[in-house]
Amino acid sequence: MRWVVGNWKMHTTPSEAKQLARQLWRLLKSACIGPEVGLRVVVCPPFTSLEAVRRVLARTRLEWGAQTCHEEVQGAYTGEISARMLSELGCTLVLVGHSERRRYAAETDERIAQKLFRVVEFGMHAVLCVGETWHERERGQTVTVLEQQLERGLAAVTQALWPQVLIAYEPVWAIGTGVTALPEQIAEAHTQIRQILHRLGAPESVPILYGGSVSAAAVSNIITQPEVHGVLVGGASLRSGEFNAIVRTVAAHRCS
Ligand code: PEP
Repeated sequence: MRWVVGNWKMHTTPSEAKQLARQLWRLLKSACIGPEVGLRVVVCPPFTSLEAVRRVLARTRLEWGAQTCHEEVQGAYTGEISARMLSELGCTLVLVGHSERRRYAAETDERIAQKLFRVVEFGMHAVLCVGETWHERERGQTVTVLEQQLERGLAAVTQALWPQVLIAYEPVWAIGTGVTALPEQIAEAHTQIRQILHRLGAPESVPILYGGSVSAAAVSNIITQPEVHGVLVGGASLRSGEFNAIVRTVAAHRCS
């Protein structure tokens, strides 16, 4: 299975999201996508736009998901949203541990592990985002950082839950910067992640996505690297034409 996941971040009001979802489906309805052809395409709008997107995308081959959730099921957590709520809105996937959440919401690996568990407990896919900063890469700490984030973030995953887990390698220095990691850097990191996953007892089938300034121009060189099973797209997922081109490139590699 390959995946293209769009992270809309804090963009789109409900009416804007509705329009973007409509444009996307108009462009993508003729594309070779869907679980039965081995390519799942999921958009992750802000919480407040989920219902609008659900109404547009219900009964299409596009899926929707969320950008984070709280680790508890319910309770006195003002302002938070739980996995249980997202599941009832038809979300099929939730991002956990995005670097912007680690940075701006001070999410720790331990909380991320709890969030991941809740997402899969409620029957959705969890995308665990991992990646090093530029400073860590320069100091030769990339593998250590990946090891720590994966070991801690996946601590609650039992054998039966692996089919609902995805990993996204997102070097922090490539997110929102316009600087895509080089194909060889992606191949190296994904191979290292696969080795770490092996040590953690994960099956070979756990997908590893790449994220970080993915564009229509760059995606072909990314998707053809070893151990790359899809892409997590931020900025470019807000431009329907470019997202369409990204999906079609991934689909061509999958379906031709
Ligand atoms: C992201 O938000 O996960 C991301 C990779 O963003 P961008 O594509 O804009 O770098």
